[in-house]
Amino acid sequence: MFEWFGKKNFCAHTKVDGFAAHLRDGRLMGSTCTECGQLSFPPRSDCSACHGGEFTFTELSGRGTLLTFTSIDAAPAGFENDVPFFLGVIDLEESGRLLASFGQSIQPDDIAIDMPVQVVPRLIEESEDIKVHYTLEKPGTRWVKTNFYQGEK
Ligand SMILES: [Zn+2]
Repeated sequence: MFEWFGKKNFCAHTKVDGFAAHLRDGRLMGSTCTECGQLSFPPRSDCSACHGGEFTFTELSGRGTLLTFTSIDAAPAGFENDVPFFLGVIDLEESGRLLASFGQSIQPDDIAIDMPVQVVPRLIEESEDIKVHYTLEKPGTRWVKTNFYQGEK
């Protein structure tokens, strides 16, 4: 299932590869250590607090606040047609930080440090490479099946 995340950046099998399957189904997941209860995002197969090796997935709200952002004007291979686009790092409400591009519900002029955002899982069935990802949207935005390259559906 982890191949749904793309061929370029991820190994085929990990202990946390269920993350991509949950994302495909519209759920953003962290991991909870079964030994000490530490909640982590991104999911960790080994606990950073107690070094335990067992965990369960825990669904996160996707709510967070914008820590920092940047515009991308010189895109990496495969994203040349998307420039300029904006990336943000957010502090998730429950635990952890997340890097994602901004979705269509937030216009560049409206992006501001500390603004509340909602992480929205995305599924791209038509793509050969990256099939699941997530975007930063206005609070309250819900998951929808989308074709990223042809606009919202
Ligand atoms: Zn632990």
